[in-house]
Amino acid sequence: MSSRPVFRFAPSPNGHLHLGHAYSALLNADLARQAGGRLLLRIEDIDVTRCRPDYEQAIYEDLAWLGIVWEPPVRRQSDHLDAYIAASAGLAAMGLLYPSFESRTEIARLVAAEEAKGPWPRDPDGAPLYPGSARSLSADEVAELKRSGAPMALRLDMAGAIARVGALVWREQGSGPDGETGDVAAQPAAWGDVILARKEVPTSYHLSVVIDDALQGVTDVVRGQDLFWSTSVHRLLQALLGVPAPVYRHHALLRDETGAKLAKSIASTGLRELRKEGATPADIRRLVGLPPQE
Ligand code: GLU
Repeated sequence: MSSRPVFRFAPSPNGHLHLGHAYSALLNADLARQAGGRLLLRIEDIDVTRCRPDYEQAIYEDLAWLGIVWEPPVRRQSDHLDAYIAASAGLAAMGLLYPSFESRTEIARLVAAEEAKGPWPRDPDGAPLYPGSARSLSADEVAELKRSGAPMALRLDMAGAIARVGALVWREQGSGPDGETGDVAAQPAAWGDVILARKEVPTSYHLSVVIDDALQGVTDVVRGQDLFWSTSVHRLLQALLGVPAPVYRHHALLRDETGAKLAKSIASTGLRELRKEGATPADIRRLVGLPPQE
């Protein structure tokens, strides 16, 4: 087994790459090179409604233009649904998954009803926690709802999961939004009963990222601070599934002049636009604040 560190860049092909992606990809490549490690590329394309093959092709072109060299093969998540199904079957066998059947609108109504009574908790991304309505369904009701064709999601029984593995920490070499670093205490309860799979897509971001990092032998996860608190869920899933925990380095997000997070929709920072205007890969490094490549 190789002891070289393994880094990965894991974009979603739901738009063109912008400067924020360039920063993350170049930082991964620089750190991998400095550590004598390997750099893998993963295409996170489980969101079938938003991901497109032309965006995936554009990712390869833009990264190659930046001078980033990744080790083949590229792992495309949509090719590995069987691995995610197997993992969720494992969690189901531990009694830690339950099906829920509400539409987004129904959930919003349930949350509004809770909020009419008093404050209702929100997750670190600001979304209200699932009100847990499906936990009380009987086996007959579940069977009936499955037959009815209602939308179905498999949720993690968060309290049960935490009770099974206890308190967890992850090793943070970067920092969180409030400067958290070193051994950070995972706080998965803050996310409530997260969705791990849906009827139409038998996985989720959280589940696939954990399985892929493990199957690809990733030792170093370098990604934006927007995913810092998601690491709590990832750490919990790693413990439940018995896979090793990588070390994490969350980096600050690039902001535009107004202080807003760069988004794929902001054309002015798109790598394709900048390239068309004559920018070179060295200009991009300068724009994102990385030193020139030795
Ligand atoms: N696919 C995710 C994104 O584009 C990144 C996932 C990760 O690095 O863990 O935001």
